[in-house]
Amino acid sequence: MNWLNEPLSTIDRQWPAALLKKAETFLRQGKVDELEETGNGNWIAFVRDTKDCDVQIRLLGAEVAGCQCDCGADTMPCEHAAAAMLALRDRLAGAPAKTTRKAKTALEKKPARKKKETFEDILNRVSHDELKAFLKEAFGRQRDFRNMFMARFAEPDDALGKAGYVKLLKNILRSGVSRWGYIDGRGFRKIAKPMNELIKQAHIQIDKKQFLGPMHLGQAMLEEISEQFTTDYDGGGYLQGFIHEGIQFFKKIFQSADTAQSLKNELWNYLLEQCPKPIYLDYGGTYHGEMMELLVVYAQAGEPENRLHRLLDEQLLALSATSRQDYLREFRKKYWLGWKIDLYRQLGRVAEMNALVDANLQVPEFRQIKLEQTIADERWDAALALIKEGIALAIEQKHPGTVTEWKKQLLRIAQLRGDREQLRAQAQELFQTDRFRLEYFKIIKSSYAPDEWSEAARTIISALEKRELPPDYLLPVLEEEQDWPRMFACIRREGRFDMLLRYEPVMLEHFPQESEKLYASWLRQTAERASNRDEYKQVVALLQNLAQKYPNGKENTASLVREFRERYKRRMAMLEEMDKIK
Ligand SMILES: [Zn+2]
Repeated sequence: MNWLNEPLSTIDRQWPAALLKKAETFLRQGKVDELEETGNGNWIAFVRDTKDCDVQIRLLGAEVAGCQCDCGADTMPCEHAAAAMLALRDRLAGAPAKTTRKAKTALEKKPARKKKETFEDILNRVSHDELKAFLKEAFGRQRDFRNMFMARFAEPDDALGKAGYVKLLKNILRSGVSRWGYIDGRGFRKIAKPMNELIKQAHIQIDKKQFLGPMHLGQAMLEEISEQFTTDYDGGGYLQGFIHEGIQFFKKIFQSADTAQSLKNELWNYLLEQCPKPIYLDYGGTYHGEMMELLVVYAQAGEPENRLHRLLDEQLLALSATSRQDYLREFRKKYWLGWKIDLYRQLGRVAEMNALVDANLQVPEFRQIKLEQTIADERWDAALALIKEGIALAIEQKHPGTVTEWKKQLLRIAQLRGDREQLRAQAQELFQTDRFRLEYFKIIKSSYAPDEWSEAARTIISALEKRELPPDYLLPVLEEEQDWPRMFACIRREGRFDMLLRYEPVMLEHFPQESEKLYASWLRQTAERASNRDEYKQVVALLQNLAQKYPNGKENTASLVREFRERYKRRMAMLEEMDKIK
């Protein structure tokens, strides 16, 4: 059906009669609801069918650029999207209700009938009290509708209080729980609308300097959504985003100069009370760190600061009291120590911070803090000693990744000091041990004078060739050196069609005939191996690429297509795909 990029005003001309009829019926019955622009030509609507359908329409100027509906229909527009488009057309034309299409000819003309009331007509006619009574009744039956209403109109500031937000969130979350007892992708989409509405309203309140409601909402989100993680093994990923949003409210509340200090204190105390709870630590993922950061950054000197220190010390003490010596324990210890160091830094207590760092140099992150200080002071010998010790420790603990990280620091110091010899030595070392990455090769190159380089490069390349590494390592180096013959030889030797495609422009430039021969022969092999529709599509794409880019591509493609049609005449899907070649 060709209907995309049609003007909205005449969109229905392309539709089959049955679709148009259904869409018009929906519209006439007032089943298109909440048609609104979300910005930039994007419109959303609710179409009430046996279930509620979410429709999205995208306009580009006066034309329809796309539409979606969550009913699961295979082709668009479905009847819901079509109905929403008609409603949108009427809305933009300024006409309250134009539900019947003008008949094209006299023959098709239907008998005149009484104009039916539209949803908007009725809405305008019904009195305020009648509407209220109806809403109350409807709330009893439709939880989704009630959630939407509450989310939209729960103003002014803190009309609900924290307990009210907790109750509202429980309702919203429950509406997304599937019959299997957890929130799946579908359930998430169901709760996303009222949740996003709540979040939007909270930001509006914050902009109006009404902070109490957003604070309570953020707290309710943190507690209620975390609670969900304990019963719901899957939904956490979907839901965590809402907690991040809630923590954004906290951040804005702390940042604003208009927030009363008493409210900031209340929020800070709340976070201090929450953060040691196992539920956030065990399931919390990344947002626990966001809570800690707020605590550290907005800690007031004196009693609050002392309380935060006490809490950190308690956590560390509890860890050292357990006999467990495992990864998690080390991880947690590092975590709490890191915040303790940050807190000292935040408060300018440098001596205590340094003492704590010095006492924990076995942790690479803390050693790095000390290293940064020595580098900033250009105390190079101290810096090198720290790194060498770090490398020795990492080797002893069998952490090769950490060894590499320290070697990168040696390279960095050589760069900072302009020490060419060290620079070359460290880059060569890393090139060998850190996956022959091109960045190291380039650093080695920069350490040579141009007239010395070609010989040095040859030595490195022939050593690489001797090691019989996969071409993924060798080819970038050869490309850097613009050694096209070796590149082509390597691609051919290794039989790597993907690499021929990756370096197609230079290979075509320097070896057009040879490349084309390889291409055709590898394409034959690809076609032979292809066994499903996606792979046939890939074969067709490769045929088209051959025709477009290679010197004798058109003839080669035509003859390959003939060959494939003959050889693979039983592969119906492949033949179908090849029909698409122009
Ligand atoms: Zn639909």
